Amino acid sequence: MRILRLVACVAACVTGGLAAGPLTSAKQTARYDLVIAGGTVVDGTGSAGSIKDVAIRDGRIAAIGRIPRSQAAQVIDAAGLVVSPGFIDVHTHADNLVERPAASNFVRMGVTTIVAGNCGSSALDVGVALAALRENPAAINFATLVGHNTVRAAVMGSENRPPKAGELTRMRSLVWKAMADGAVGFSTGLQYVPGTYAKAPEIIDLARVAANVGGIYTSHMRNEGTELEQAIAETIRVGESTGERVEISHLKVDSPNRWGASEKALAMIDAARRKGIAVKADQYAYTAASSSLGIRFPSWVLEGGQAKIAERLNTPATWEKIKVEMAALLAERGLRDLSFAVVALYKPDPSVNGLSMLQVAQRRKGSDSADAQFEAAREMLLEGGASMVYHFMSDDDVDRIMKHPEVSIASDSSVLAVGDGVPHPRGYGNNARVLGTYVRVRHVISLEEAVRKMTSLPAAHFRFAGRGVLAAGYAADIAVFDPSRVADAATFDAPHAYATGIPYVIVNGVVVVKNGTQTNARPGQVISNSLLQRK
Ligand SMILES: [Zn+2]
Repeated sequence: MRILRLVACVAACVTGGLAAGPLTSAKQTARYDLVIAGGTVVDGTGSAGSIKDVAIRDGRIAAIGRIPRSQAAQVIDAAGLVVSPGFIDVHTHADNLVERPAASNFVRMGVTTIVAGNCGSSALDVGVALAALRENPAAINFATLVGHNTVRAAVMGSENRPPKAGELTRMRSLVWKAMADGAVGFSTGLQYVPGTYAKAPEIIDLARVAANVGGIYTSHMRNEGTELEQAIAETIRVGESTGERVEISHLKVDSPNRWGASEKALAMIDAARRKGIAVKADQYAYTAASSSLGIRFPSWVLEGGQAKIAERLNTPATWEKIKVEMAALLAERGLRDLSFAVVALYKPDPSVNGLSMLQVAQRRKGSDSADAQFEAAREMLLEGGASMVYHFMSDDDVDRIMKHPEVSIASDSSVLAVGDGVPHPRGYGNNARVLGTYVRVRHVISLEEAVRKMTSLPAAHFRFAGRGVLAAGYAADIAVFDPSRVADAATFDAPHAYATGIPYVIVNGVVVVKNGTQTNARPGQVISNSLLQRK
């Protein structure tokens, strides 16, 4: 008994840190919590990668260089892999993060920080939303904007008119409160109701409330095709008036008769920047958008529910009128039929999923004419409609926008649940697609530039201090990927597939993806407005 107790005492003394010895676990005396060893470090600044070790302690990067493995409690062997900052996705609709805190679609493509509240739509009470995530942290870091549509709807409902003085004052105070509660800026969605009813003076007024406390202005612009230049001018004007930073959301050219207009759009951004206006943009790496079949019909056709819709579609004279208007809506964009539209999900007849409307018309109507396509669309709308994919952007525009040094990579996605609906594949694949398709296969941009666009570029524009670069003292948000394998597996037909070739993801020093599998760790932090800094 006595001898046994003595042995126990010796062990206790050693593990207490008096001496290093064979009884001491590495964790208790290791200098670093984790070392990512032997990977090619691409630090996020755009500099060329080189082989180094990255040491992490207490959630931060402690050292980068040659680090003896004996100093690490845990080692990840990254030989042959790239070690980069975790990706920062500044354009998301992840307002549902608290309900899906694993955020697996983001985490599995290397994303470690997201910004919600985009396109004018956010939590109305940002303080409550952020408190919920502080209480129950997610796997990734979170920041939010306050949305104009949310604020306007709370004060004015869906009124199509300028605000009265008292209404503007109330909207200002809602924006101010959201900023005081930690929002990082103010967003608009000017193609949506009710934001579309707002004129420039209202937007500038509210953006200034956010700007006065260091808030960025982000905009889903009024138009992304036929009137792209006017929309960009309106967005830049906000930055010119407030003196603060501006982000053009999901920059694209969505009308075939405007393909090539990205050149002018980017030139306008460059000209504004030369004048000292801090305007940048983000994009997703796909030439197709996703939406409902219904939006191809005039909006009045969709009013009043399915019975009303059916009545209109089944009245021959009304249907003739609808077809004329559908053709006109297409012609405005330089389109002559629905061949650009592909069925993603049509529940009554899944055999048409994946077919273009031209192919659907051939199969169901025996003709591929525009008229037959409209008839097929009419039948499908009568049966409840379909989820569609619209291929209306060009590779040239997407490539040109991606090559611009001030454009970040962002997904435009919410937090997804496997098997739920038919979302756009960008929510699972965007970052991996850039690294696979745009860097490795098509050489549109270099690997270092792609990583910069996903890390230091958005971090600096959104003022996320201490993130977005691999350097000592920075938060240990890290993605480890295989540059020869990284790829998006999600397709428009089968979007619920995680990105591949990203074996490790680390958030605030904690491993959230290990050997390609997500752990249960929830180390995400709330990132709030740096000027007001409420905890
Ligand atoms: Zn948007």
